[in-house]
Parts: sequence; structure tokens; C-alpha cells
Amino acid sequence: MKRINNPMEIYKLLNRSNCRECNEKTCLAFAVAVFKDKKQLGECPHLAPNILEEYGGDIEKPNTIDEDTAQAVENLKKRISEIDLSAAASRLNATFFGDKLTFRVFGKNFNVDSKGNLSSAIHINAWLAYPLLNHILEGKGVPMSGNWVPFRELPNGRPRAGIFQQRCEKPLKQVADTYTNLFKDMLEIFDGKKVEQYSGSDISIGLSPLPLIPILICYWKPEEELESDLHIFFDETCEDNLDIDSLYTLVAGIVKMFEKIALRHGISKDSKASFLG
Ligand code: SF4
Repeated sequence: MKRINNPMEIYKLLNRSNCRECNEKTCLAFAVAVFKDKKQLGECPHLAPNILEEYGGDIEKPNTIDEDTAQAVENLKKRISEIDLSAAASRLNATFFGDKLTFRVFGKNFNVDSKGNLSSAIHINAWLAYPLLNHILEGKGVPMSGNWVPFRELPNGRPRAGIFQQRCEKPLKQVADTYTNLFKDMLEIFDGKKVEQYSGSDISIGLSPLPLIPILICYWKPEEELESDLHIFFDETCEDNLDIDSLYTLVAGIVKMFEKIALRHGISKDSKASFLG
């Protein structure tokens, strides 16, 4: 198995005929799909046997952001084991019983023990564990102000505002554009609360991915000559309770999760979410 660092390295292994027999529109699209684990290299029927043998139909890739985040989570767990978890619970208005601190995350209980181990009825992803542990370690417990601001207006948001728009707002808008009802259902499934139309948006839903870190997702449907739009807002105090890197990781993870659900369960524009039964 050879190490591959980017989709272009996969693209160079293909015959570049864009024949579409792999059900992708181009060889480049196929290369990107393989890099993202959505396709196997062996699904191109025109791959030279020696290449398939050399790469084994599977490829080794550099550490992904998720893998790096998973490593960071392990480091945070060690730090959790060194703090007074009951003091953290009272600072953050969480409950503490036995040796466990308990939070509500997406409307479900989420436990952290004194060794930093996490448990919950919902699946624990690294993108959720990383901000949650940072919140326990560094969150000041400042109450919410009720004032919503965009990412770029947070104290340390401006330098990352471009990437936040590219990686969070833009893909989430695509989900909302393509699967509008599914998008609304997903928000409701994750304990989203309808917020009175914020700034004239057609859909305004609040999520509570972490205590004291509410987010407001607003979607404007396309109208005559106007394109659709989507913006994500934060309580203006949220950086007192979560650092900007963790906040970005959290929202990027939520967006990835919504994209995955949409790809797996979305049927067509305005269809009902099939996974709701
Ligand atoms: S089947 Fe292979 S050659 Fe054809 S488009 Fe897909 S990747 Fe390219």
C-alpha cells in the first residue's frame, strides 16, 4: 500500500479519458471521491493491473483533520484528569455526581468522568469531544447575552471568517438548497428550536451543541432574482466559554454531519426526510 497525499496523485494514476464508467463525471471527480473514501480505486475498470497491485485498491493517506483532532482529544483527556471536575461543573453550571460531570448536548446527556472519558447515548465524534473538553478546561461560565453576532464579529473571528464561510456556511447552504425539508428536519432532530424569524430569514433555528454555546442557523430561500443565503450566528459571549479554534471545529463538524446525513438520506428537493420513518 502506497501513501497518497492528495487527489492529484490519484488522478495521475488514471487514464484520464473521463469515460464515466465509474459513475463519476470525470476522472478528477473520481480521484477526489477516492481520496474522500467515497470510492475505491479498484472501481475504475481501466486501471492498469500493476497500479492496482501496487496500491492494493486501497490507499494510505496522511492524517486527516479528524485524526489530528482525535489525537488532540487524547491530550485534553490527560489535562481533565488533572483538574477538579466538581469545581468545573459548578463554574459551568453543569451537574456533578459520583465522579461524572454531566452536560446537555443536542438535548442529550453527555458525561465526562475524572479521567476525561466521555459517554453518551449519542455517538461521540472527535469534533464534538474536542470542543467539549476545551469548554470544561477553559470555559468561564459567562451567561449568554442573547445578542447574536456573525463569526467575523467574534473577538477572534475575523482572521478565520473566510475559511468559516467556505467550510461551514457555504456547504450548509448547499444542503439547505438541495434538501430544504430534510435540512429543517435535521435541525429538529438535533433538538433545534425555532427562533422567531431572525433578520427576515425563512428558516431560523437555534441549536445547543454545547452548554452556553448556542448557534443560530438562518436560511433565506431563493426568490425571483435573489439567490438563497445562509448565515450562522453566535451569542456574542461565546468566546468567553469556548476558544475560537474549538468553536470552528464544532461547527465544521456539525456541517460535515449534516452533509453526510443529506447524502445518505436526502431524496430530492423538498422531499420528506426518509430516515424519520
Ligand atoms: S472509469 Fe476510470 S477512466 Fe473512466 S471516468 Fe472513471 S476514473 Fe476515469
